[in-house]
Amino acid sequence: MVPNDHENGSPPHPAQASPTDSPPAARAPRPTPPPSPPRTTRSPYPVSVQSLIAALADLPGVGPRSAERLAFHILKTPPEEALALARAIEAVKAHVRHCSICFHLADADPCALCADPRRDRSKVLVVEQPKDLISLESTSMYRGVYHVLMGRLSPLDGIGPADLTIANLLSRLDRPERNSGGVPVGEVILGLNPTLEGDGTALYLAEQVRSRGVTVSRLARGIPTGSQLEYASRAVLADAIEGRQHI
Ligand SMILES: [Zn+2]
Repeated sequence: MVPNDHENGSPPHPAQASPTDSPPAARAPRPTPPPSPPRTTRSPYPVSVQSLIAALADLPGVGPRSAERLAFHILKTPPEEALALARAIEAVKAHVRHCSICFHLADADPCALCADPRRDRSKVLVVEQPKDLISLESTSMYRGVYHVLMGRLSPLDGIGPADLTIANLLSRLDRPERNSGGVPVGEVILGLNPTLEGDGTALYLAEQVRSRGVTVSRLARGIPTGSQLEYASRAVLADAIEGRQHI
């Protein structure tokens, strides 16, 4: 089939023989790359745009497509607005640190929660991440202080006690001067996520805390408010039965 085309349509070397006819036919498919149809994520972008897309794609939950969309949004945003984002990132990296007592994110050390004398600093609620603390704090139901572990024990991932802020928590119990406001800790409340790893971490911590003669408790778990028994999983129901309360 191919030989036929060559034989019928044109002699051996037509391209060089007739410049007028051949160039359009021969080049038509090729010269497309230089211009700019930005559909594939290859590299039709200027280097700076490419690196912006790459940086955005590194963010959690942002895939290459979303990164591209965000980059275009930034490109068409007025300079002042776009630079405000850049400045906010810069400021966060320059000023926000972890509180040296509870490891929550803070502008100052100790953080506002640890430094607040109106809070009951003898109670320490242990959470995995700063965002857990923020969720609990948004309820306005807890008036004690916190301790952020910065993760949870996960032997399979090689995360042991030394990778978390467990030693800092225990030193708050051992030495009151290491706790918020220098107040001795009377109770540790475990607020880890109800996952296999969270439970393992809670178990480990409970043992450590109890051995120091400090009361340990954990957040209640069970049937969420507004839900129905028939839709609750076995594990949730088991937790609810175990954690039943006197009324
Ligand atoms: Zn703090």
